[in-house]
Amino acid sequence: MNNKNKQFAIIGLGRFGSSIATTLFNLGYEVLAIDMDEEQVQKSSELVTHVIQADTTDENTLKALGIRNFDVVVVAIGEDIQANVLTTLLLKDLGVKYIVAKARNELHGKMLAKIGADRVVYPERDMGLRVAHSLVATNVLEYIELSPDLSVAEITTPKILIGKSLVEANLRAKYEINVVAIKREEVLIIPPPPDEKIQAGDILIFVGKTKGIQNMEELE
Ligand code: ATP
Repeated sequence: MNNKNKQFAIIGLGRFGSSIATTLFNLGYEVLAIDMDEEQVQKSSELVTHVIQADTTDENTLKALGIRNFDVVVVAIGEDIQANVLTTLLLKDLGVKYIVAKARNELHGKMLAKIGADRVVYPERDMGLRVAHSLVATNVLEYIELSPDLSVAEITTPKILIGKSLVEANLRAKYEINVVAIKREEVLIIPPPPDEKIQAGDILIFVGKTKGIQNMEELE
């Protein structure tokens, strides 16, 4: 299947859901957006392929929408945890192939995973983490936690590494991190050769132990 033929349904058109819906639509995908609130539905009507006013905690509504034919369904209902969980459960029951569900906290996330959500996302927590890292370490551009002890980070090169090759920098031994790419102006060097010399202005993208990344962030 051509990737652009992938069909998405986004349930809940708050800031998170509508941002996903409009981004996918602008990327050229077919997007069905669903919200039970008339005002939200009207706001989104120009921004996606189809928008429908419906309560997704009703199984018959979901069936009538043919929800199981969508490749990915995102549950972006926020405050109403019960509606969020019930919707996820019904989607799973109806045989939706890939369900992404937004969790408000760890316990909620665990519940969603148990029910069968294929991916659980924590947008508030993740954004909080990123902002906190960028506040305490000014060279951190991007920070994504993959698991409690593994993260991906993007940092501007600390002065101490300029002119060193990746072998000389020895970041794997010192910090248990692996540089997976170097961004040099508009060019992405991926994977970077071990003898690649790090230059001033380079952006290093790496995966590694959270502790090691924190130590690395403190380099000047
Ligand atoms: P955000 O942070 O993304 O702005 P939020 O976490 O505050 O949103 P809510 O505003 O509570 O989340 O929910 C997002 C949307 O989900 C709302 O527009 C709401 O109308 C919709 N929603 C809630 N329950 C249902 C339901 N049962 N069926 C369909 N839509 C629903």
